[in-house]
Amino acid sequence: MKVNILKGFADVCPPEITLWHHIEETAKRHFFLYGYEEIRLPIVESTELFYRGIGEGTDIVEKEMYTFADKAGRSLTLRPEGTASAVRCYIENQLYNRPSPQKYYYHGPMFRYERPQRGRQRQFYQIGCEAFGVAHPALDAEMIAMINRILLELGLDNLQIEINSIGCSKCRPNYKSNLIAFFGDRLSSLCSDCNRRYVTNPLRIMDCKVPKCIENTKGAPLIRDYLCSDCSEHYRALKGILEHYPINFIENPKLVRGLDYYTRTIFEITTENLGAQKAVAAGGRYDGLVEQFGGPQTAAVGFAMGMERLVELLKNQSNNTPPKARIFVATLGAEAERASFGISEELRSAGIQVSLNYGHSSLKNQLRKADRLNATHVLIIGEEEVSSGMYNWKDLSNGQQGQSRLQDFINLVR
Ligand SMILES: [Zn+2]
Ligand SMILES: [Zn+2]
Repeated sequence: MKVNILKGFADVCPPEITLWHHIEETAKRHFFLYGYEEIRLPIVESTELFYRGIGEGTDIVEKEMYTFADKAGRSLTLRPEGTASAVRCYIENQLYNRPSPQKYYYHGPMFRYERPQRGRQRQFYQIGCEAFGVAHPALDAEMIAMINRILLELGLDNLQIEINSIGCSKCRPNYKSNLIAFFGDRLSSLCSDCNRRYVTNPLRIMDCKVPKCIENTKGAPLIRDYLCSDCSEHYRALKGILEHYPINFIENPKLVRGLDYYTRTIFEITTENLGAQKAVAAGGRYDGLVEQFGGPQTAAVGFAMGMERLVELLKNQSNNTPPKARIFVATLGAEAERASFGISEELRSAGIQVSLNYGHSSLKNQLRKADRLNATHVLIIGEEEVSSGMYNWKDLSNGQQGQSRLQDFINLVR
């Protein structure tokens, strides 16, 4: 009986996996440059963690969590995002005792029970960073600069960096009540989601993508007019630092985030390369979350980027991964075949991928095989080559041929 994959879940197979590796390696290289270290977090957590961290009333907690009871009757949830787990880890391992700022990254699968669509799976992958212990906006700006560099290095263009401040626990409540007053007599013209948000999370109405809701946010109060003096100063300083990098950004006064825990800086990096303007990375500051989870008062800022969307973007680029040498070692005769094992190991020691023929066949068949395997070069070993140490090779990308010592060949293909 054939068993199929679940709806909303996807296998990632070659050749696409090469793009995943390329994105992960590029991100990790930059995380190193900016001083971020890896934390590995469990995929399953207590449901309560997300109730407390993400907040009741958010779309994620209300509609999208994979929650189930284990055999002991505990309520468990497959993580829908990374920040709540990272904060729990930070407190449980007392990472706040390490020198600040404490900078961490994670990557792996997240789960949300949503209607599957193109580029949106129920199991999806995120790479994210969380930096703890610094309230100054220099940390926010550095994070934005790092993401920008990662995306540019991946070859993405048409990037747009949008920023906003959503205030703090002192100034946001006043904004919220003005927003509630504004939308109070417009509820009938808002979508059903926004009617729900009006009760649970009215700020989310501001970034609803339904046209009639966009229309109805015209003239709505904007958070920037309600920021307290500390939040205004923080936002002003952030913009100044971004200009010094320099990073081009756009202020979007309607930018909000779906999660309750954000304070002050929020940002979103979008690109037009997938047709519509879509976010590839998003994040913000969450200065109250560590304390809310029972840890010491700790300022923090983080972001996440979605792998599937990045992979989709890279697929549309030619030259989406740097070319790597793949050598096919062809042999003529038993002596050459015996020599090929040691030669292959030398190539691998030099960091070059090698395929062999595994058994005997004609040179013509071997060349055909090399072509099907997408080899970049064929190294041809015959009896004469074994005794002279000079090998024939062919570059399959341009048909060029030559004869070299093994070390010269290695230098050539690297
Ligand atoms: Zn404030
Ligand atoms: Zn709406």
